Amino acid sequence: MEDIKGLKLSKKSEFKRGKNHTFRVGNVEVGKDFIMIAGPCSIENRTQTLETSRILKDLGVDILRGGAFKARTSPYDFQGLGEEGLRIIKDVKEELGLPVISEVLDTRDVELVSGYVDILQIGSRNMQNFSLLKEVGRSEKPVMLKRGMSSTLEEWLNCAEYILSEGNKNVILCERGIRTFEKFTRNTVDISAVPAIKNISHLPVFVDPSHGTGRVDLIESVSLASVAAGADGLMIEVHYKPEEAVSDRLQAMHPEKYSILINKVRKLSKSISEINSFNG
Ligand code: PEP
Ligand code: MN
Repeated sequence: MEDIKGLKLSKKSEFKRGKNHTFRVGNVEVGKDFIMIAGPCSIENRTQTLETSRILKDLGVDILRGGAFKARTSPYDFQGLGEEGLRIIKDVKEELGLPVISEVLDTRDVELVSGYVDILQIGSRNMQNFSLLKEVGRSEKPVMLKRGMSSTLEEWLNCAEYILSEGNKNVILCERGIRTFEKFTRNTVDISAVPAIKNISHLPVFVDPSHGTGRVDLIESVSLASVAAGADGLMIEVHYKPEEAVSDRLQAMHPEKYSILINKVRKLSKSISEINSFNG
């Protein structure tokens, strides 16, 4: 074990400081361009996914999101449309020409989900599902690894290592808030995790302020804070009719609000890059 900035990580670890790891998804370069991922929490039906995605494309979103396999707290809650949902998101991808990301919950579905999406998402609840990590590590598709809701940075980085060590180098880390005693927000977004990880690892770091806060009124501010902290992208839940969202309704953003957010984020991200290039 090696002590890297106080974290115990194996000497074999692939974490490198310095140059960002970059890779292409659709028309964008993850780790270089500032990436906006947006879409509904769940794929509910064709109209909802298509209508939401059309608006998002017009607003300049880079990658569309939508869950087909949902990890819900209760087994009685909507579990997602499964493969039918994947078919919908793939049709939307083909119609709009934008890449898509969706969650895979089970090792048995990695091949299936890979056939439909451009990025495989590993959710917070599965961050330490080591068999799943190894399986996506053998996939050709990039992987977004969301931080476990009660996980330390050391545990999170070791989970990324499970994917990297199987040969898949295209990993995105996504801070999505952790459990604290605070109940006002759904989770507590650990903004400091962004520069902390970027000081240790070459991997791109994204923030999900939707699950991070669980509140539409806080998503814009936390998005801007994430950009200022050095994030490489944001993943945000948007629904064309938020009041009708089947899952995560309280954090479903209206496209009008999202349009203000994306404009501010693009401007801030440009200024931050200029400031950073000035500082060398
Ligand atoms: C999601 O992004 O769809 C999701 C379920 O988030 P998390 O795994 O962070 O709870
Ligand atoms: Mn959600």
